Amino acid sequence: MSPIDDLPPLREVIRRHELAAKKSLGQNFLLDLNLTARIARAGGRLEGVTVVEVGPGPGGLTRALLAEGAKRVVAIEKDSRALGALAEIAARYPGRLDVIEGDALEVDMAALAGEGPARVIANLPYNIATPLLTGWVAADRWPPWWDGLTLMFQREVAERIAAKPGDEAYGRLAVLCGWRCETSIAFDVNPQAFTPPPKVTSSVVRLTPREAPLPCAVRDLEAVTQAAFGQRRKMLRQSLKSLGDAAALLAEAGIEPTRRAEEIPVDGFVALANALGARR
Ligand code: SAM
Repeated sequence: MSPIDDLPPLREVIRRHELAAKKSLGQNFLLDLNLTARIARAGGRLEGVTVVEVGPGPGGLTRALLAEGAKRVVAIEKDSRALGALAEIAARYPGRLDVIEGDALEVDMAALAGEGPARVIANLPYNIATPLLTGWVAADRWPPWWDGLTLMFQREVAERIAAKPGDEAYGRLAVLCGWRCETSIAFDVNPQAFTPPPKVTSSVVRLTPREAPLPCAVRDLEAVTQAAFGQRRKMLRQSLKSLGDAAALLAEAGIEPTRRAEEIPVDGFVALANALGARR
């Protein structure tokens, strides 16, 4: 008997449903239900919460989310081979698991999540992990439909999400995520925990939406961070030239023209974005 439920061990599920991992779908499965339970718990208390899971695969994390008490799990999976395994989990937890066959980049997750508190908890396919994240964090509607994101990324991406000014990994992604969310790395997961093992260490990242992020337009913030970090070692008076009168923008934002992108905190970029937006 597996540690969290009375369903068969994941190895057996994978064998029976012929779920040999496909690289093209970013499939690296977690078979240890104690580890998936740890990831589910990193998402906070799940009672009364609808969890949206991207890429349930054979369902190791799905099972943990249900065993940890999620009111409902909406699982979006592109690989139709996984549907049989997921149907067995749905039967074990009647009315609590909705499986959507489709591409997570295309479905309307807010609509699928419905009313009430909702959260995203997922071991993301690495090939679409960053576009999914930016879709959630850069959404027009804020506060968003979710009250937290608990996501597995390659360690290198996790560092770029949670980086602070002065960190080597500080860049466009950290500014965007730090603007709208509190970010942190919860823990690392070593390659051997996955089947097949990826080449690099992974990390679970948590993002909690800020209720009132400093106002600015996403496209202006993206424009200033793209220019600034495109030439990250240069002084801003140089790197922001592509946006027009760099000196005036910096003066308006109250930033010394000799500073470099990597030293500027999120509120500095927001001030620059607003200075740029005022000229459009
Ligand atoms: N959650 C499972 C686990 O932890 O063992 C599987 C995680 S695996 C890293 C990523 C999963 O995302 C796979 O099941 C894969 O088929 C699925 N996937 C890949 N691209 C997808 C997409 N565009 N939309 C939805 N699911 C996708």
